[in-house]
Amino acid sequence: MIYLDYNATSPYSPSVEAFIKNEMINSWANPSSEYSEGLALANEIKLMRSEIAEILGCSSKNIVFNSGATESINTVLSIPHLNSLGVKRIISSPLEHPATLDRLKFLEKNGFEIQMIANDQNGMLDLAQLGVLLSSGGKSIVSLLFANNETGVIHPVKKISEVIKKHQHYFHIDAVQALGKLKFKIEEIGADFMSFSGHKIGSFKGIGILFAENIKELTPLLHGGGQERGYRPGTINYPAIRSFYLALKDASKWDLVSLAEMQKYLEEKLHLEFKAQVNCSSVPRIVNTSNFYFEGKNSREILMNLSRDNIFVSTGSACSSGSFEPSHVIKALGRDKNFANGCLRVSTSPNTTKGEIDAFVAKLRIFFGS
Ligand code: PLP
Repeated sequence: MIYLDYNATSPYSPSVEAFIKNEMINSWANPSSEYSEGLALANEIKLMRSEIAEILGCSSKNIVFNSGATESINTVLSIPHLNSLGVKRIISSPLEHPATLDRLKFLEKNGFEIQMIANDQNGMLDLAQLGVLLSSGGKSIVSLLFANNETGVIHPVKKISEVIKKHQHYFHIDAVQALGKLKFKIEEIGADFMSFSGHKIGSFKGIGILFAENIKELTPLLHGGGQERGYRPGTINYPAIRSFYLALKDASKWDLVSLAEMQKYLEEKLHLEFKAQVNCSSVPRIVNTSNFYFEGKNSREILMNLSRDNIFVSTGSACSSGSFEPSHVIKALGRDKNFANGCLRVSTSPNTTKGEIDAFVAKLRIFFGS
């Protein structure tokens, strides 16, 4: 198998794999129990929370474990939470992940004002427009990606955060694709909320973190047994939290320079051999993500063909009522349906080898008959 779809999810990181094989069987207790089995796990969670906070650059008091970014986004953009913050308007972008876009549709139906920031063909947001929007209107929250999951484009979140703070609005960042692939410290960015999922860097699925700067202002999505200081009740999933911790520690050692070299190798090869264009190639992108346009080709056909040979990539298309809709991100870049249907996303990890890229290219050569 050649796996080139790490932005969708990742196999377990080495430490998570070792945890599953050697330790997980013994980590079944309920960390809220008052006897030794539970107390030991609760103590370990405390230590892991501190180390995670240190890696991410924030206080351990400001992070809440939950099921991942979909839940975090829905918590931050929940109606009770927005009401308690006094927010009536959400400013976002059509380039966002469906977890945000779908939530926004729901909020719009429920009387919230939604405003979208324009972008250019490279996915760069119109920050002048954002400044204008922020200078009028009531209390607002801006919700944006740190790095786009399909194109890899990095948004200048620190700069955006400064503009938002100047106008005293709230800022939420969907940082799912930035984790591991960008060096950052939460406290240096200055956002109010940040959402993370562990499975993109090799933890279990269904575990993530919500960072909230003023945690006391956070209105929980769920109500129950008081776990996570009441911000996210429900029996604590120790194995999943441990997997997040271990995956994050592994990812913090990733060699981003080598990843960037691999990205360059891949992009040059595909351009040279098949004249593939890299979408958004002229702007800063995370080093594991390349979105290619193959003129006159259908990327779903390419994907299906590669998949028969156990090579896995993505088209970014979404299945809706039985048919495949081309990527909303490529369309939001101002491209038409034909263009979007020719786009293929390749996302790598430090495990990806040159040999795998070469084998992928060799299969494409057969497919293209070149
Ligand atoms: N945001 C981004 C940028 C993503 O890539 C994903 C996952 O595909 C999500 C949010 C949702 O994450 P999860 O499915 O782990 O809740």
